[in-house]
Amino acid sequence: MYKKMPTECCWCGNDTTDSEVFTIPVKFKKDTEHPEVKLNGYITNLEVGGKKVWAIVTGLNSEAKQAGNDLIFMFCSKDCAYEFKDTLEEDMKFYNELF
Ligand SMILES: [Zn+2]
Repeated sequence: MYKKMPTECCWCGNDTTDSEVFTIPVKFKKDTEHPEVKLNGYITNLEVGGKKVWAIVTGLNSEAKQAGNDLIFMFCSKDCAYEFKDTLEEDMKFYNELF
């Protein structure tokens, strides 16, 4: 589906190849660049709380997009997901671009 999908936790960098992953879908009101790949989605890099993270930009035809989610973050554990969410909520600069 996504050619260059990383197999690591976007928060701590742990390898997630053979393990269960946790995802957080978010809305992102800023329009994305790359119109040529918008249909299929792509991987993007963002900065949350001063930390570089990667996220999936959902393709126009994907179920996630149809459910109203524009970005999906992937984690190796619930701990990482919660920590990320806390940081995201504190990171107002980034948060203001959501919803
Ligand atoms: Zn992790």
